[in-house]
Amino acid sequence: MSPGRSTAGAGPGSGLPGFVAGWAIWNLPARLMAAVLTVEITAVALVLVLAVGEPGPDSRTIRDVVLLVVFGLLHTEIAHGVERVRRRVNGEVHVNLSSVWFFAATVLLPPVWAALVAVVVHLHLWLRSARPRNPLFKHVFSSATVVLSCMSASGVMSAVAADGTGDRGDVYVLALGVLVFLTVNTALVAGVIAVNSPQTDVASIVGEWDENLLEIATLCLGALAAAAIAINPWLVAFIFPPLLVLHRAVLVRQLEVAANTDGKTGLLNAAAWHTQAERELRRAERRSGPRAVLVIDLDHFKAVNDTHGHLAGDRVLAAVADALNAEVRDRDLVGRFGGEEFVVLLGALGEPGTGGGELQTVAERIRSRIAALRVEMPTADGPLTVAGLSASVGCALYPDDGRELRDLLQVADTALYAAKRAGRNVVRMGIQPPAPQPLLAEDSPQGRRYGQ
Ligand code: GH3
Ligand code: MG
Ligand code: MG
Repeated sequence: MSPGRSTAGAGPGSGLPGFVAGWAIWNLPARLMAAVLTVEITAVALVLVLAVGEPGPDSRTIRDVVLLVVFGLLHTEIAHGVERVRRRVNGEVHVNLSSVWFFAATVLLPPVWAALVAVVVHLHLWLRSARPRNPLFKHVFSSATVVLSCMSASGVMSAVAADGTGDRGDVYVLALGVLVFLTVNTALVAGVIAVNSPQTDVASIVGEWDENLLEIATLCLGALAAAAIAINPWLVAFIFPPLLVLHRAVLVRQLEVAANTDGKTGLLNAAAWHTQAERELRRAERRSGPRAVLVIDLDHFKAVNDTHGHLAGDRVLAAVADALNAEVRDRDLVGRFGGEEFVVLLGALGEPGTGGGELQTVAERIRSRIAALRVEMPTADGPLTVAGLSASVGCALYPDDGRELRDLLQVADTALYAAKRAGRNVVRMGIQPPAPQPLLAEDSPQGRRYGQ
């Protein structure tokens, strides 16, 4: 029996009937499973409680539900082509532009009906595009976060509008709705990421700035869509062009990220590292403070491939990349230079004249972390652990070893080769490359030989 099957068999789903027992959710770590189920059950319970007290829909509510579902489905179909490319580039799509319709529903409809619109549009989106790679529990979780966001935004907007100071069409009420929707959605997703990997940094939990800006832009379009539907549903035709441009903008951004990223390790690729490192050095000219370049080369990496195969080698490269990222700060630049060689630019290292000590400390930390790595991976023959790795590190300090990136890389590279010659698994600092050989004199024996 494979390890995967035995885990599923012994998991919490094992006592459940046939197809339910096979759900991927039972394979999640216990804490993550509990967090996901809590969000899902809360959303279902809230919908049921509100549905019990909800009077039957009037004709306006029915019209708006139908319109929003139709617009939502139409949107998914029209954007299908761009979204397919987007998924191919990035695998997973984080920002959901269907929020336009979820937020419009939040503004126009009682919360239970808004939840219904969100669930139907979201289900169609999943069936149409995300299903092959997104297991059902992920889809249900994401629907639950949308439902809870709709309900929270709706509740706050009603509370503000009901106290006599405004109605749902007021700018500040809509702005508050956008804020609550965004906050609840982000908090739920971030909460589950934090439960899953508590060591993850805040930026990746809350998401990039531009991702949040995109979500805000989507919700703003949702507010406009609600206004359009309230005035004249045909006006929604004016929402679709900017919405499709937004899809393209997201695609362009993802292509940009993909063009700068090394596929195996997720680090910056060599070209992107160079560009960003040059920019950081130009910034260093304006603001004082040392910077440093580290070139890190895995020792005898060929032996890892020869012993365990290239796939295992790739896993090791990814694990080393994670280790490097863990040892430096967010603003430092970590790149894969090629093969089993990595490069790091450390931004602002304390006060001028003090950088050398800090650089040595960081380089030693990186070296010993790689030496302590144990990379575990499943293989056809059972779990494999690769350990006993090591790396040689060459360092150069800005401005002491040079002011240009090219010079710093040369110094770091020369130091790296000194580290290799010193027996590997060591750090060497700032070794100037040998001066270029003078041109051979015409009448020297070599000069005559080359001149022949
Ligand atoms: P040294 O200590 O002198 O650096 O020895 P080394 O074996 O690390 O260096 P060498 O240059 O002889 O070999 C580098 C190896 O890195 C050979 C190559 O197969 C492997 N390599 C380069 N890129 C990749 C990759 O993307 N994946 C895998 N698995 N291996 C790679
Ligand atoms: Mg090597
Ligand atoms: Mg090498």
